[in-house]
Amino acid sequence: MSIQFADRISNLPPYLFAELDKLRDARRAEGVDVISLGIGDPDLPTPDPILDALDRAARDPVNHRYPEYYGLDELREAIAAWYARRFQVDLDPATEIVPLIGSKEGIAHLPLALVNPGDTVLMTDPGYPVYAIGTMLAGGVSHSLPLTSERGWIPDLDDIPADALANARLLWLCYPGNPTAAVAPFEFFEEAVDFARANNVVLAQDAAYSEVVFDGYRCRSILEIPEARDVAVEFHSLSKTYNMTGWRIGWMAGNAEVVEALGRVKTNVDSGIFQAVQHAAIAALNIEQDWIDARNAHLQDRRDRVISALRNVGIAPEVPKASLYVWSPTPAGMTSVDFAARLINEVGVIVTPGVGFGAYGEGHFRISLTTPDDRLDEALERIDEALERSGTVRF
Ligand SMILES: *Cc1c(COP(=O)(O)O)cnc(C)c1O
Repeated sequence: MSIQFADRISNLPPYLFAELDKLRDARRAEGVDVISLGIGDPDLPTPDPILDALDRAARDPVNHRYPEYYGLDELREAIAAWYARRFQVDLDPATEIVPLIGSKEGIAHLPLALVNPGDTVLMTDPGYPVYAIGTMLAGGVSHSLPLTSERGWIPDLDDIPADALANARLLWLCYPGNPTAAVAPFEFFEEAVDFARANNVVLAQDAAYSEVVFDGYRCRSILEIPEARDVAVEFHSLSKTYNMTGWRIGWMAGNAEVVEALGRVKTNVDSGIFQAVQHAAIAALNIEQDWIDARNAHLQDRRDRVISALRNVGIAPEVPKASLYVWSPTPAGMTSVDFAARLINEVGVIVTPGVGFGAYGEGHFRISLTTPDDRLDEALERIDEALERSGTVRF
């Protein structure tokens, strides 16, 4: 017999970086010491108070049973208190916050609550791939809003064709951006809220990197806009803020009807988050800002090393104010896949080709700041060596 798979699975794109993975595996098999600057996954440890809270809560049998469906009251209250401290936004912990098993889970599930087959979801190109994949799993149609460096990687909402707008149910934004590392002026958030209200579209802002900031920059929440609660939700994650990617916890906050709808999908699909992890998240949300500032200073130092190494070989990336990435133009004339393949083949260094995040990512590549310092330095030296060999003009 041959197994018949659902169309939605056969329509899933092939793994974006499969070809590069093959090259990487081939290099490793040859014994090359490959260094990856590809994935955005913090190498630095989760802070001790969070580990201690997990340890205590894991030993309490109360937490060994099925968790509360909508998360512990104490967790939603801690999230509301964090929002009030951080953004001066008051959220109702009972109706305006839903904890998630990592924000990716909620991002992938939200279209199931909002999108009928054939409906349109607006998202940026380049962008985080899960917006398009969640849309596809719900039977929706993605419409891409091009991002360019000329516009600071901010979409032009006035330029969306009427037919795409007619069936649009949801608009995804992601600031600070992955992969672009761009931050959005608050005026753009105001414009986006007006746009969503005028067009009857739910606005979802993915703020996974709001606390990973450099040079004293401070991100604002879209929920600071009073009208945002009519149409908007914001996704947060503990992953990047507290070096907790493996723990799988985040949340969505904002419009109560959308919170209820996503919660309804989730209660039918999953059974919540291990309660010991929820207690650890409460400890995380109460960690002093000094810890975050020191961690960000460490990442800023890595950012500066990447920027100066790239400038040294004649590439002029924008200096990011936030996120875990440097988003850089490729050397003149090289496609992003050619450039990435060349670095793997010649010097055993992995970077992410921009085209993997959408057609408008072509001409750029992404370097992640989550590689230990000595390995990052080694990788930067190797990139220097590869480009020197290729005769790229040096300053
Ligand atoms: C890492 C990332 C997420 C997912 O974070 P988790 O909470 O670990 O699932 C969501 N959005 C963007 C843009 C990310 O880069």
